[in-house]
Amino acid sequence: MSAIPRARRIYTNRTLNLRAISAIGFDMDYTLIHYEFETWERQAYSHVSRALADEGWPTDKLVFDPKRVIRGLVVDTSTGNLVKANRFGFIKYAFHGTRLLTYKEVKDEYSRTIIDLSEDRWQFLNTLFSVSDGCLYAQLVDAMDRGTSLPGVSSYEELYAKVRETVDLAHLEGQLKGDIMSRPDAFVELDPHTAVALQDLKYGGKKLLLITNSDWVYTRAMMSFAFDRFLGPGSSWRDLFDVVIVDARKPTFFAQMNPLYEVATDDGLLRPVLRALRDGHVYSGGDAKLVEDWLGVDGESVLYVGDHIFSDVNVSKQIQRWRTALILRELENELEAIENFEEKQAKLWALMREKDELDTKVSQLKATLQRLEHGYGSPGSISIRDVEDTLQEVRKQQEAKDEEVVPLAREAAALANENWGLLLRTGNDKSHLARQLERYADVYTSRVSNFFYYGPHAYLRSSRGSLPHDPVSC
Ligand code: IMP
Ligand code: MG
Repeated sequence: MSAIPRARRIYTNRTLNLRAISAIGFDMDYTLIHYEFETWERQAYSHVSRALADEGWPTDKLVFDPKRVIRGLVVDTSTGNLVKANRFGFIKYAFHGTRLLTYKEVKDEYSRTIIDLSEDRWQFLNTLFSVSDGCLYAQLVDAMDRGTSLPGVSSYEELYAKVRETVDLAHLEGQLKGDIMSRPDAFVELDPHTAVALQDLKYGGKKLLLITNSDWVYTRAMMSFAFDRFLGPGSSWRDLFDVVIVDARKPTFFAQMNPLYEVATDDGLLRPVLRALRDGHVYSGGDAKLVEDWLGVDGESVLYVGDHIFSDVNVSKQIQRWRTALILRELENELEAIENFEEKQAKLWALMREKDELDTKVSQLKATLQRLEHGYGSPGSISIRDVEDTLQEVRKQQEAKDEEVVPLAREAAALANENWGLLLRTGNDKSHLARQLERYADVYTSRVSNFFYYGPHAYLRSSRGSLPHDPVSC
């Protein structure tokens, strides 16, 4: 294991024995194909802001800011805020539009609130695709607050619905995808090891499927661009997969039965077929049940690999009980930031332990004082005056300690992203995204090609997991 760099390891929540997996389904966008995130999102952003400008919106001067939003944030559509919550759903950080709320403002607004993602009020940013709409929404909240007229929209909820609708249209209508297909080299980050990783799995006896929400024409263009060059002469990406399913409409794909069509010609002509998959064919639509019937296995033998925490991982796990792998590309940058901060982090932990000791001392002294003042609990022969003096002294030490802690804690909170910090942390706790990751993703890793380091027979064993009472060395 030590030979595999930390950034490229597969991390395991629930033990996954690849030998027990008979088929692996792969998502395409941001999974098999990684986009130059800033370039793709800037392109999506400019399509959406142009579409809004055409309807009279004041979006022509807006500029995409890739640091404004990270995956795993939640939009509070009722207040125009973007928030970061911890694993319990408590909100710890918030921006109103692009303005950071103070600690007190967050407390006043949210101290009685727990995020419940089943309510429409909260919109979770599930993938890197969400960064452009989150950024545009925040900027338009600012515009709304300045009193700028936004046609047809008079509340933060309506604004969010409008941004979403325009983003949906941009993804569905041909122009954005046309831009990507005409210059794939500008948008796609190639990785030669992905093809080898897939071949490892295929020749290791697994059935491989591509299951994407993208349409056939886009899928063919992207897959061909990203894979054909790394395969031998006469081979194409199609040889890697036993079955290809486009227009999959995940998460519905995992949740209900859907009509199945075969993609009959290379330009995407569809024809209805009986509800059964066949090796070597390309389909549009369909559902997870068809995949299990084709394989003759149940969900425990199927692994699905995707980047969308809800559609690819949560629903496939909850409804179909498929094994799941989440692709979290940001992990690579984050691990680098964590590694660079290691020395300071050790110092911060040491300071926090000292601070804890001082905090405990203060509360013990206050309890002693209380016992002395009320004459109970045999506090000993010490005088009230002595206890008060010691208390004052320890409080001074506490203040001095805080002055050392604060700048380091600030730096720790801005690792990887100056506005929001690390994806999987909210302060010292795990983030809301981390909680979902633990619940629904059996394993997670930064990119598909990391399977290259493990091969098709790997036994991915979960770590023991830590509890607050574990000795520090555990
Ligand atoms: P997959 O990740 O391979 O399943 O495909 C994702 C597809 O969904 C791509 O074609 C994206 O363009 C599209 N997509 C991503 N975000 C949105 C959205 O917000 N609305 C509509 N389509 C989207
Ligand atoms: Mg995807």
